[in-house]
Amino acid sequence: DTIGASLDRAVAAWPDREALVDVPSGRRWTYARFAADVDELAYALLASGIAKGDRVGIWAVNCPEWVLVQYATARIGAIMVNINPAYRTHEVEYVLNQAGVSLLFASLRHKTSDYRAMVEQVRGGCPELRETVFIGDPSWEALTARARPVPFPDLSCDDPINIQYTSGTTGFPKGATLSHHNILNNGYFVGEMIAYTEQDRICIPVPFYHCFGMVMGNLAATSHGACMVIPAPSFEPRATLEAVQQERCTSLYGVPTMFIAELNLPDFASYDLSTLRTGIMAGSPCPVEVMKRVVSEMNMAEVSICYGMTETSPVSTQTRRDDDLGHRTGTVGRVLPHIEVKVVDPATGVTQPRGTAGELCTRGYSVMLGYWNEPGKTAEAIDAGRWMHTGDLAVMREDGYLEIVGRIKDMIIRGGENIYPREIEEFLYGHPKIQDVQVVGVPHERYGEEVLACVVPSDPADPPTLEELRAHCEGRLAHYKVPSRLQVLQAFPMTVSGKVRKIELRETYGV
Ligand code: ATP
Ligand code: MG
Repeated sequence: DTIGASLDRAVAAWPDREALVDVPSGRRWTYARFAADVDELAYALLASGIAKGDRVGIWAVNCPEWVLVQYATARIGAIMVNINPAYRTHEVEYVLNQAGVSLLFASLRHKTSDYRAMVEQVRGGCPELRETVFIGDPSWEALTARARPVPFPDLSCDDPINIQYTSGTTGFPKGATLSHHNILNNGYFVGEMIAYTEQDRICIPVPFYHCFGMVMGNLAATSHGACMVIPAPSFEPRATLEAVQQERCTSLYGVPTMFIAELNLPDFASYDLSTLRTGIMAGSPCPVEVMKRVVSEMNMAEVSICYGMTETSPVSTQTRRDDDLGHRTGTVGRVLPHIEVKVVDPATGVTQPRGTAGELCTRGYSVMLGYWNEPGKTAEAIDAGRWMHTGDLAVMREDGYLEIVGRIKDMIIRGGENIYPREIEEFLYGHPKIQDVQVVGVPHERYGEEVLACVVPSDPADPPTLEELRAHCEGRLAHYKVPSRLQVLQAFPMTVSGKVRKIELRETYGV
């Protein structure tokens, strides 16, 4: 179905229920009002000369207008281009030109980012960009004032409606072109697995620009009549817990580092999180200890782990409500309905037996249409059998649950031994002096690569030493996995979607 048709159904079923709450500004929308504002914006876009298939960019931190733009562009079949709010002029100019954006929505400013000034700088270099509308600025009212009801264009659920860029964890972000069918179905099924109803209120501190926010958050919510709650324009642990408490949220999202930041707030225990029942932790490996604390201390007994990637709308596997803690912590769950997975030997493409690691491949409605204007890269990622090659190493267990072992690109090969950083990270995570840890392979003359542990200490005044770490590993990890180098850091370099850029750790400390 199309996203517009799905919204119409929500309005018919739950006109007076809350659809969207912006905690910082206190603004609230019922489904009826939300759909009316979406339609007004859609008419205004049509009146501004935006036609089906045209690219409309959004370069903004989380705010209600972001969500209105998402649904208004889908309504008229314009292709929304999500632009990372952390981008600066060089990157935004690249994306605007690569996607051929003709109208851009942007934040005015956020913290030290002055988006208006940056747009001024790149406008000359973007010949296709006709108009920029700033959120919270008279240019927004000037746009919506143009709205005149006209029939919406005929749409097909297979039309492209969204270009989402990958997180850029392993290199330059790639633009995945997605259809209504891709992301609406994925949001719907993710919500089904969590059993969302119109009673649910979902706190979304993850960026909308990324699929975690706009699909697993927004589309999962509106396809079930649930409410989207925006705690802050960008992630802040305190604002997140305050929003959960104030808005009586039943569900909370985050990447593992966000949950870690919330759990480590000195006044964590003073927040009332008793309304929470579920949530999603996804995006990168979730340490078992963190998962246990989320379940017991944040009241999220049904919290779900999702695995996926931008190119697959995004979710492929998910833990279910009734999975026990063992499955919920050690695996990324089972495959979602209507999606296929297989694990293959990366060298030969032969399907591995259960229990053996290999490259995970996925197939089904969720696989993107392709990388925008990059047929070569698309053909590398999606093979003739329509399998998406994820670049992730996984094990399919006997019981049908999937384990993500790591990324092929992050695997360390030391003296011919394959080392999965994840295993060492999980192990070191148990050390009392370690708050957070990342393990990367760095060049070594004799062994090819050696193991570097990058550590954020629990107490900055008392970081662990390499000797302490090695003693901790002694006799418990095979000698070749024991880190031979240690780097103590205050924080890791992150992508906006909250992932550690291991590539940067390797490049900075691997010399
Ligand atoms: P890029 O492709 O630009 O390097 P990226 O792969 O991080 O960046 P995304 O599409 O946002 O961009 O992330 C998908 C990747 O995130 C997956 O391929 C996988 O490596 C990782 N990932 C997602 N969910 C999980 C999870 N639950 N456990 C472990 N890893 C995960
Ligand atoms: Mg990727």
